[in-house]
Order: sequence, then structure tokens, then C-alpha cells
Amino acid sequence: MKEALNSSAKKVAIVGSGFLGLTLALRLSQKGHNVTVYESSPEIGGLASVWKIGDITWDRHYHVVLLSDHYTRKIIEEVGLKDEFEWVETKTGFYTDGELVSMSNTFEFLTFKPLDLISKFRLGATIFYASKVKNWRKLEKVTVEQWLTKLSGKKTFDKMWRPLLKAKLGEAYQETCAAFIWATIQRMYAARNSGLKKEMFGYVRGGYASVLRRFAEVLEEKGVEIRLNSRVAKIESLKDGRVRVFNSESAGKSLPEKQFAVEQIGSAKSFRKQPVETSAAPESNDSSETFDKVILTCPSNIAAKILPQLSDDEKKRLAKIRYLGIVCASVLTKKPISHYYVTNITDETPFTGVIELSALVDKKEFGGNSLIYLPKYVAPDHEIFDMSDEQIEEHFLSSLEKMYSHFDRNDVLEFKISRVRQVFPLLTIDYSKGVPDTETSIENVFIVNSSQIVNGTLNINETVQLAEKFPMELI
Ligand SMILES: Cc1cc2nc3c(=O)[nH]c(=O)nc-3n(C[C@H](O)[C@H](O)[C@H](O)COP(=O)(O)OP(=O)(O)OC[C@H]3O[C@@H](n4cnc5c(N)ncnc54)[C@H](O)[C@@H]3O)c2cc1C
Repeated sequence: MKEALNSSAKKVAIVGSGFLGLTLALRLSQKGHNVTVYESSPEIGGLASVWKIGDITWDRHYHVVLLSDHYTRKIIEEVGLKDEFEWVETKTGFYTDGELVSMSNTFEFLTFKPLDLISKFRLGATIFYASKVKNWRKLEKVTVEQWLTKLSGKKTFDKMWRPLLKAKLGEAYQETCAAFIWATIQRMYAARNSGLKKEMFGYVRGGYASVLRRFAEVLEEKGVEIRLNSRVAKIESLKDGRVRVFNSESAGKSLPEKQFAVEQIGSAKSFRKQPVETSAAPESNDSSETFDKVILTCPSNIAAKILPQLSDDEKKRLAKIRYLGIVCASVLTKKPISHYYVTNITDETPFTGVIELSALVDKKEFGGNSLIYLPKYVAPDHEIFDMSDEQIEEHFLSSLEKMYSHFDRNDVLEFKISRVRQVFPLLTIDYSKGVPDTETSIENVFIVNSSQIVNGTLNINETVQLAEKFPMELI
């Protein structure tokens, strides 16, 4: 049921239906505003969207919830899934010098062979110290390499930190500031310190497919309209202060698995594929509609392109934010490869970690099979983006065979690859100084996106928090 609009109700457009866009849509609709969400993809959820792999529908990228993720938990509870959380104690593996070892507790850390006792002590002390540091701004001034080498020593940096940083940042680790590792360690500590001293991770039964389906239903009840396959190409402020959004239908809707995801997660009524009002627009087949306010949640450089009226300074600032991308394979296989949820890798492998989700999530969710993710974080122009699916599959599977002698590629039921060129902004030196403001110089146009996370890692908790902290008085 569409809620009755109060006299101060505004017509608001949101660009992007990731968790940021969806949370903003919920809060604005609760305030009585009339909200339309534009999404270029054929499904909602952005980085947290789902797809079909084998017979199951599960997250395109691995997702877990931490006990300390209060914002994530609250929004999931709010859409009615409070009782659907499962919390599980997990184990962590380490693949180093061609050997897979467990690294899930202090004893295992102390008996970890690749590091001598002093190096282990310095590593432990570094992590403990980082967990106590409060002033992260100081850490924006030094590179992560300088900071960790100073604290842990060169030997430990070369043996442990460098491979781990490369796993998450590719070669860009060299330009990353120490605030990055500080934020990562803070999150890790929060995960362990939420009352229990164990590493507990959570998921919602049915994965993010369940969460997004419920979210879509709640938004529909609030009268929010979500327009899929609707890429916003340009946004223009009009003389009367209103804002015109030009959109074009995006490519990609013909992909059958994406269509499936839409049908699986969304109740048909909440989605409209065609905008209402058509007018002169920048490209053929485009449409436009006028709003009182527009909020962009897309990456900063996309915002710079679709807002031609921004000042040159603002455009430069937005374009300067550099993103890291990902190539992430999902492997649905008949047998497990380990009992570790995460296996960190310090050896050279084509992927930069192994995430065995079925070591965390009940295998019943996967028809008794195992679901493994093989991520590789890379710069947006990395050559892997030009490799075919077959090349990547061969490359990744042959490496899995070398790492796990019992792994047999004949057990693989499906191998699917997600490629995203812009996942998270690189925290470079003095990063927070270049962060885009929420208010732009264009009247009634706002930017809220992950580049505004200055002292955290990219996760749904931070994302939802950005939306919750959006100053509603601007609308
Ligand atoms: C591999 C991986 C693992 C992760 N693991 C976890 C985890 O375990 N736990 C956790 O909490 N978080 C995790 N995250 C992070 C989490 O997915 C993100 O924090 C969150 O999804 C970001 O949401 P967002 O709305 O900010 O951005 P996005 O999800 O990127 O949404 C932006 C949306 O804008 C749309 N868009 C862009 N341009 C346009 C345009 N011109 N017109 C219309 N629409 C447009 C995009 O299609 C997209 O849907 C992970 C992410 C990845 C990639």
C-alpha cells in the first residue's frame, strides 16, 4: 500500500539499488516521501545481489554477517528476518610454502612453522597494537608497508603481510595507507570480541536472496518504485530547482541467470521496467523524469560522468578516487575441499584466497554440495578482465588441484565468474581529504557512496550506516 504523502513529501530519485540505495529508499519512504530507485542491472542488490549456480540461488559474492554488525543486523531484523540468522564458529586456514595449516587459535599460531618465534611475537604484537590505536587519521600519512615493516619487521612483512596485502589489494598495496590495515584489524577484533572470544560468523537462511526478496516486499508496501534495467545516463538541474533524471535501458537483461535472479528475489509488482515520462534525452530510446531531489549511490567516477553540471573541482575530486575491482569465481562442487571458512594464501596462486562458504553455511542450502569462492582482487584495468571464462576456469581449477590433492574437477557441478571493475575505493595517503561531500554544488543533488567510508572496510554494515547517517533534513 502506498503511504499517504504529507504536504512536505518530496519526489525523490535514488541511483543504485545496492544496500545503500535500498536503505535510503526505506528511510525516505518511511518519512512519507515518494521514492523511485533506478538500477542499471536486471536485479537489485548491487555487490550483494544473487545469481543461480547449479540448482541453487545464492550470493554472487560471499557474504557473512559479524555479531558486531549492528546496522546490518538491524536492517535485516526490520525487514522481518530476525529469526533467520544462523551463527557459526568458523576455522581459518593458511596456505603457505605449499602447505595448508590451521590458524584458528593461539596454540596454532604459536606452532605455525613458517615464522620463527620472534617474528610471531612481533606479528601478534602488531595486531594487538593496531587493535588499540584510536587515532586512525595519523595512519593516513604512512603507507601500510612502512607502518607494518616498522612494527613487525621486514622478515615478517615479506613472509606474511605482503602476500596478504597483495591478496586484498593487488599491486596497489604499495600506494595504500596504514589506515586500511588498521580498519581491517579493527573489524577482525570486533568479530572476536562481541561477547564471545571465538570467531563467529553469521548468515541468513536462504542467503541474501531471502534478505533482498523481503527488502523488495517491504519497499513495495511503502510505495517505493524500483526500475530495473534503468541506467541513469545524465542528471540535470532545472531552472525551477527540480532535477531531471535521464535514463536508458541497460544491456544485460537478456542474460538468463540475471532474469532468474530478478524473478527469484523480487515480487513482480515492485519492479517496473519502463519509466513513465519520455522527453528529449541524450541518447535514443532514453527517457527522463523530473524529481525534487536525487541521491546517487553509484561509484564516484560514474557520478562525475552523469553530473555534467558539477564544478571542475568536484569532477576532479570524484574522478581521482581509485577503485579496486574483483574477479570472483563461485565453484559448486560435490565434495568439500577443507573445513576452513577462509584460507589465506601467501604463495603465488591465480586467486588470492579460498572462501569455502559451505564450511559456514549448512550444506542443505546447497543441496548437500559445497560452495567455494575464489576471489582475485585487481585493478580495474587488469588483464584478467579480458580473459575468457574458459581461461579463468582452467587457470583456477588447475591451481586448486595443486593445492588440494583430493580435489577432483570432475566433482565440479558449476563454475561461474563474476567480474566487477569497481568494488571499493583504495585508501591512499590522506584519503579522507579527498572524499566527496554529500551535498554537491548542484541544487538538490546528493552523493552518498562507499568512497565516504574513511575509517572502515567495505562491508554492508558500513554501507547501511552511511545511509542511516544521511541528513534527512536535506530532503
Ligand atoms: C567479494 C565481496 C565479498 C564481500 N563480502 C562481504 C561480507 O562478507 N560482509 C559484508 O558485510 N559485506 C561484504 N561485501 C561488501 C558489500 O557487498 C558492500 O558493502 C555493499 O554491497 C555495497 O553496497 P552499495 O549500495 O554501497 O554499492 P553497490 O552494491 O555497488 O550498489 C551500487 C548500485 O548502483 C548501480 N548503478 C551504478 N551506476 C548506475 C547508473 N548509472 N544507473 C543506475 N544504477 C547504477 C549498480 O548496478 C549497483 O547495483 C563484499 C563485497 C564483495 C565484492
